[in-house]
Amino acid sequence: MTNNKETIVKDILSKFPRVKLCHQPTALEEMPRLTEVLGGPRLWIKRDDCTGLATGGNKTRKLEFLMAAALEAGADIVVTQGAVQSNHVRQTAAAACKLGLDCYALLERRVAGRNEKYEQTGNVFFDQMFNIEIEFRPPGLDMNDEARQAAEKLRSRGRNAYFIPGGGSNETGALGYVSSAQELLHQLEQTNLNPKLIVLSTGSAGTQAGMVAGFHALGCDIPIMGISVRQSTNIQIDNVYKLAVKTAGLLTDKPLSRNKILVDDGYVGEGYGIPTDGTLEAIKMAAHNEGILLDPVYSGKGMAGIIGQIRNGQINSNGDVVFLHTGGAVSLFAYEDQILAG
Ligand SMILES: *Cc1c(COP(=O)(O)O)cnc(C)c1O
Repeated sequence: MTNNKETIVKDILSKFPRVKLCHQPTALEEMPRLTEVLGGPRLWIKRDDCTGLATGGNKTRKLEFLMAAALEAGADIVVTQGAVQSNHVRQTAAAACKLGLDCYALLERRVAGRNEKYEQTGNVFFDQMFNIEIEFRPPGLDMNDEARQAAEKLRSRGRNAYFIPGGGSNETGALGYVSSAQELLHQLEQTNLNPKLIVLSTGSAGTQAGMVAGFHALGCDIPIMGISVRQSTNIQIDNVYKLAVKTAGLLTDKPLSRNKILVDDGYVGEGYGIPTDGTLEAIKMAAHNEGILLDPVYSGKGMAGIIGQIRNGQINSNGDVVFLHTGGAVSLFAYEDQILAG
């Protein structure tokens, strides 16, 4: 990668309204003990769990662009949605406080069979600290549609409501992951590192779509593997590809090929928000060997994907692999019993 290319992408990002919410660059660190335990390739971790806002996480990067758009639209309240233990809602609520806006969120009871603590602790507790208004919804609705209707209702009462989709995943939010892609490439260049693979967990698709769009615009060919936390491989490839095309379209005219989107749904288990034995093992391994907190919904499944792919030979022991830590440890409190028992 030449400095020239980097400058071009910087210029492209600089044309979008953006507010500063994020501690960046986030660290790129080696995980020598986990590497040794797994007998795999040299493992690295990019610490987007440490983006700084209200314990951090990947949504903060997206919110730099989304909240700027809300302010440009003259909003006095942002409306969004997520699952009950949504990290996105927590970070949006904190960003709203920091910028002097109100926040209204719909929480979907998407995960069946949790105990009553699940709706009180972790992210829900923090949501309340940020003083947002919450409404719960039963599972299975079109939640973005519900949130759009809630925004409409607020407008009819005279509020200037700005709708932010679940996970902050539209092309504006995905620009946050273009910024992460750019930052990572810069760090790789500085440390003379040429990883063969980037691994991240993928849900509402904006993180992977933004990374892919960023690499595409920068001419970087390192493959990005999304470990699905919810959808089947084909559906998730569709979701990521559609959003990556829209996002890349803001940056470059070069067409983006669908085969750039890699997804593995082999670590979802029973479904969204339900950790598998592999998830629990990954959380323990990262904690015991590296002092790193993963979460039971996203990053634990992502790491379970790396562990599984090393064990089944899909990732051989040569070279370097980077795990993008997207955050989420706040939800550990809602899963305490299961994690301690596991
Ligand atoms: C939202 C989230 C993800 C998934 O990112 P998407 O952009 O929704 O695909 C991964 N990890 C954590 C901790 C998250 O909160």
